[in-house]
Amino acid sequence: MLDMIIKNGTVVTAESTFRADIGVKDEKIALIAAPGTIQEKAAKEIDAAGRYVMPGLIEPHMHVAAPFGGTIDVLDFYSASKCGAFGGVTSFMDFSTTVRGMSVMQAVKERLDEMSHAALDYSVHAKFVEANSKVIGEVKELIDFGVPTFKMFTTYPGVMIEDTDILRIMDEARRCGGLCGFHAESNPIAEFTREKLAAEGKLDWKYFNEAKPNACEAEAVQRILTFAEYLDAPVYFYHLSTKEAVEMVRHAQARGVKVQAETCGHYLTLTKEKNDSPDGINFLMSPPLRTDEDRMALWGALNDGTLSLVTSDNEAFTREQKESFLDRDENGNLIVDFRKPVNGTPGIEERFGLLMNAVNNGTITLNKLVEVGSTNPARVFGCYPQKGCLEVGSDADIVVVDPEKVMPLTAENMHYGLDYSLYEDVTSKGWPVVTIRRGEVLVEDGKFLGKESTGRFLARRL
Ligand SMILES: [Zn+2]
Repeated sequence: MLDMIIKNGTVVTAESTFRADIGVKDEKIALIAAPGTIQEKAAKEIDAAGRYVMPGLIEPHMHVAAPFGGTIDVLDFYSASKCGAFGGVTSFMDFSTTVRGMSVMQAVKERLDEMSHAALDYSVHAKFVEANSKVIGEVKELIDFGVPTFKMFTTYPGVMIEDTDILRIMDEARRCGGLCGFHAESNPIAEFTREKLAAEGKLDWKYFNEAKPNACEAEAVQRILTFAEYLDAPVYFYHLSTKEAVEMVRHAQARGVKVQAETCGHYLTLTKEKNDSPDGINFLMSPPLRTDEDRMALWGALNDGTLSLVTSDNEAFTREQKESFLDRDENGNLIVDFRKPVNGTPGIEERFGLLMNAVNNGTITLNKLVEVGSTNPARVFGCYPQKGCLEVGSDADIVVVDPEKVMPLTAENMHYGLDYSLYEDVTSKGWPVVTIRRGEVLVEDGKFLGKESTGRFLARRL
């Protein structure tokens, strides 16, 4: 007796598209067979006629329950599970909140403890903010524990790590088989441009992009690529946004540098003009939105394999929270200043729709959607083929997609509980109608059925 059969669907993987029925037993995919040929009975049957059956998406880049300057984003790991599941996500990864003087392993364990409330399977990337002998010694310990992926920032005093320390961590990660990932923005360029714009009184939202120009990303990416090439160490870039960075990664890959990189749904969909409006504050994220030329370069880079993942960098604040960082004039009006609000935008739920729209307009194939949203995240971050594919023996993380279902990506339709959406004017044709994590139905008929603390820690190995 099977636990579940998903019948009559069109199976879509990163490599191919074919008609098949899928049998699930004991949290795993037990059978993949020609339509109508599974004889065994099942406790639950899902008719997927006219629908796509895909591996669950993996969200490897988000910031949930992330405190910033006395406020904290609106999601916890359970509510984030709900938003994710509606958008076809079945596993997600966050970051440890490491501070100076702290054991990185301790920070990872504390974060995993918070994440244990999730309904999705979960993991964490270990954040390094310094490289003393104690934390260098923890690199191998983290890898053995199942957390082989690390994050470092080249900007933001307080979390940014010194260049020499980057080399130290990178070298040890290379030696032990870990992967260093970077938030790559140039701190010198960011500080210099902010000062300059402030002196000129240019603090409106529309100047945010100029405060972190393309060169700000490019300088840091080039520096990290030089380190990686020198040490022969693998590196990963979070949220690339510029044509310059993409070109550098492309050339480095051609030289044999072991570099992989992602972009995010918003850089593929939106441009900096969004900041030039009274709602510009809602579109403050780092790196900032870019030009249409950058946007098209990112799609090109996904299609030629230079970029291999699309993530959300989800960090959901209400407008009120963002505005709480601003001063008011004597009449009580907000004083606009792009330097002040917390950066970060929601996106874990919309990611599927943004990619589906690109399928519908011919920019990418459906197989590419699966590749960049599920299979490559699993491969790059070390949980393939347990996750990221539909194979016998893999976890039964499955999304059934109705290609005809129309979903306006409005605040009202999403589940963050926010009063705005970055995609108020974007509608997705094609949307997940059933989301299954390890054989358990999390979303069906527009309802969230997931239970708190049913997600499981995903030990990963590169
Ligand atoms: Zn991020």
